[in-house]
Amino acid sequence: MTKAFVGIFGYPVGHTLSPLFQNAAFKALGINAEYVVFEVAPKDLEDAVQVIRSPEFLGANLTIPHKEKVIPFLDEVTSMAKKCGSVNTIVNCGGKLRGETTDGPGFIRSLKEETGMSPKGKRILLAGAGGAARAVAFALAEAKADVYLTNRTAEKGEKLVSDLKNFYPQNTVTYIPFSERADALRREKIDILINATSVGIEKEKNLPLTIPSPLRGEDNRLIVCDLIYNRKTLLLQSAQRLGLKTIDGLGMLIHQGALSFQLWTGKTAPIKKMFAAVK
Ligand code: NAP
Repeated sequence: MTKAFVGIFGYPVGHTLSPLFQNAAFKALGINAEYVVFEVAPKDLEDAVQVIRSPEFLGANLTIPHKEKVIPFLDEVTSMAKKCGSVNTIVNCGGKLRGETTDGPGFIRSLKEETGMSPKGKRILLAGAGGAARAVAFALAEAKADVYLTNRTAEKGEKLVSDLKNFYPQNTVTYIPFSERADALRREKIDILINATSVGIEKEKNLPLTIPSPLRGEDNRLIVCDLIYNRKTLLLQSAQRLGLKTIDGLGMLIHQGALSFQLWTGKTAPIKKMFAAVK
């Protein structure tokens, strides 16, 4: 069998951990394929995408800043990717390119694996309205969670809330002004708090959210998630000090990759081997 390839397109893209765990997965299953990093400037995206049509490519991943811009260059986009306006995975279906999003489902899987909790009926405060927040918000709405969304720039947060309401009119979707985010934790009896802002990606001075302390009995069930995966953020540190269950972004990263792997190969991804490769 000739060697197959999967690309990741980003700009810049040097920081990505994906080749580590995707190549470990190919190796573990004895698949003759390689996951390769391509630094693609925005002006070159359309041409780069055409390369994925060739038979040796199983598909590709997209990362910042291409997830939205790639959509017009694809032949087909799943309804979920269309709703959230983001594609992180391209599958080469015999020369036709299908766009998918596995970021949100990756987060849901990570939540279930690490806490045993399903988002259905849970009250979730999500901070952020960028690409990651958008993907997670749509997956939560799809899973029938109640979504409370807050963002530093109100217009962006309100736009995401309005898009969610448009697609999920039956769901509870509420915008929380950024100045009220800490109060909202108790007021709205939040079950799960998610930081999807980029605060904490580098050593931070401030918390994106303050968790009220001391805890009252009912707050002990709060689960605190941070999508950041490269370090333990101040948010997770403070939540752990309060004795709360926490999850970082590594689970989301691996699970979104595992779902993409399944789409490219038709095989169940070796999750444990993928975690081991990055740890
Ligand atoms: P993005 O599109 O650039 O969005 C950044 C978000 O952070 C916006 O909501 C922005 O608010 C907010 N923000 C930035 N600086 C802030 C500050 N000082 N105070 C308050 N809010 C601030 O980024 P993204 O792609 O959504 O990524 C967000 C985070 O998720 C990153 O840390 C990234 O590493 C992580 N991520 C993790 C995974 C995973 O698999 N675990 C996947 C994707 C992303 P404004 O709208 O006000 O600017």
